[in-house]
Amino acid sequence: MTYQIHARIDGPLVMIGFGSIGRGTLPLILRHIDFDRDAFTVIEPSDEFAPILAEHGIKHLQLALTEANFSETLRGLFPNGKGFIVNLSVDVDSIELMKLCQSLGVQYIDTVVEPWPGFYFNSPLPNADRTNYPLREKVRALGKSYPGGPTAVSCCGANPGMVSWLLKEALLRLATDTGVKADPKTQQDWALLAMTLGVNGVHIAERDTQVSARPKPQGTFVNSWSVDGLLSEGYQPAELGWGTHEKKLPPNGHKFKSGPGYAIWIDRPGADTRVRSWCPDVGPQFGLVVTHNESLSIPDYYTVWDGPKALYRPTCHYAYHPCPDAILSLHEVNGAGKLPENKHILTADEITEGGDDLGVFLYGHAKGAMWYGSRLSIAEARALAPYQNATGMQVTSAVLAAMVWTAENPNMGFVEADEMDHARCLDVQRPYLGRIECHYTDWTPLQNRINRFAEDRDESDPWQFTNFLAV
Ligand code: NAD
Repeated sequence: MTYQIHARIDGPLVMIGFGSIGRGTLPLILRHIDFDRDAFTVIEPSDEFAPILAEHGIKHLQLALTEANFSETLRGLFPNGKGFIVNLSVDVDSIELMKLCQSLGVQYIDTVVEPWPGFYFNSPLPNADRTNYPLREKVRALGKSYPGGPTAVSCCGANPGMVSWLLKEALLRLATDTGVKADPKTQQDWALLAMTLGVNGVHIAERDTQVSARPKPQGTFVNSWSVDGLLSEGYQPAELGWGTHEKKLPPNGHKFKSGPGYAIWIDRPGADTRVRSWCPDVGPQFGLVVTHNESLSIPDYYTVWDGPKALYRPTCHYAYHPCPDAILSLHEVNGAGKLPENKHILTADEITEGGDDLGVFLYGHAKGAMWYGSRLSIAEARALAPYQNATGMQVTSAVLAAMVWTAENPNMGFVEADEMDHARCLDVQRPYLGRIECHYTDWTPLQNRINRFAEDRDESDPWQFTNFLAV
C-alpha cells in the first residue's frame, strides 16, 4: 500500500507521550509525513509499548518530563533552531512547552491545554480558577507576544480540533440548504454567517458505542481513550460558551469576572452534569457537559461585536455520551466519591462492536436542528490503521491534519483549530473519518418525557439552555 505524503518536517521530531493517542498517531505520521527517522524521538516514562517504537526504529527516551527537567531535556534535542514537538502526554504543562518552542524556533501542537500535576485534583484554587477559561485566556494572551512566531497549534485533536472544521462545513451546508449566499473568508465573515443563519447554539454531540466482550470489572475505570484525561476534565467544573439568546443562568451558574466573557461555568463537575442532546445513532440522548477548549474557542470565534457589546454569540458545549463502560465507571466514581485505583483503555483488538459518532449539532436555525459529523465504526477504524479504536482514529487523524497544516504554515504563531484552513485539514483527515453525514431533525429538548415532573421549562423558546439541562 502506498500513501500520499502530505508534508515534510525538517529537523528533529519529538513526540511527548506514547499513550493511546500517541500510539495511534505514529502510523499516520509514518505514512503521510516525510521526515528523517533518525531524528524522531518519543519521550515516554513507561516502557509498556516500547516494542512498537523499536519495531519502527524510533528512539525512546524513557523519562517523565517535569518542571525541573523539561527545558534542559528539550533544548538538548533541538540544537539547531528547527524541528517539531507533538505533545500527546498528560501532566506536562502545555503553556511552558509553547513558550520554550518559541525560544527554540520549533513548531508545536497539542490536543489540550494541560497543566503540571496539581491543577486538576487536590488544588487549593477556587473552582472558577480550575476551569479551562483562565487556561485558554493565558494561552491567548501569551500568543499576542509571538506574532509570526513558529506555529504553535493549541488544542487540536478531534474535540477540541476537528469539530471546529466540521462546524465550518456544517454552516456552509446549512447556508446552501436554506438558500443563504455564503462565501466566508475572515473570522468576522464566519461569525456573521452563523448569526445570519440563526444558529442559537452548537453541541459537540458525541455517542461512543464501543464495547468489549469482557464485562467491566467493578472498581476499574474503563474508557476508549485516556482515563486520566477524562477524569481530569470530568472533575473540572462544567463550562460552556454562553449565547446571546440565553435568558438566565442555570442553577449554580456563574459568569467569569474578567476577560471577554464568552463563557460561563457551573459549580458542579462536568462528569455529573447532563444535558439533553441528539446523535444520529440513537436520536435523543443524554450527554455530559465535560469542559473542553472548543466550548470556549467556538463562542469566542463566532461572536459578532457591536463596539463593546456582543450582538451575537452561540451557546456551545460538549454533550458527551462516552462508551458504556465509561458511563458505568463514572457512575461508580460519582457514587464512591473517590478516584479509581485501576484504569483500562479499550484497545481495538478487544472491542467487539460499536463505533463513535462525533459531530456538531446546530440548533435554532430555519431547519430546526442539524447534526453534522463523523460516523466511524470499530471495524472501519481497525481496517484503516493499527493501534487504535474508532475514538482514537478521529483524534489521531486530526493531529496528522494539524501537523500537515503546521508544516505548510510554519510561522503563524499561536493558533487554534477555528483559525486554521478547515478545508485543507479535512482534506487530509477525511480518509480516516468513516462517513461524514448530515442529519436534520425536528427534535427539541422539550420533547419526550416519561411522565411529567417538576422542571424548569421555557415553552416560549425550546433552545434555551434551561431546556437542555437535565441535572
Ligand atoms: P494516555 O493516558 O493513554 O497517555 C498519556 C501518556 O502520557 C501516557 O503514556 C503517560 O505515560 C504519558 N505521560 C504521563 N506523564 C508524562 C510526563 N511527565 N512526561 C511525558 N509523558 C508523560 O492518554 P491519551 O489517550 O493518549 O491522550 C493523550 C492526551 O491527549 C491527553 O491529554 C488527552 O486529554 C488528550 N486527548 C485529546 C483529545 C482531543 O480530541 N482533543 C482526544 C483524546 C485525548
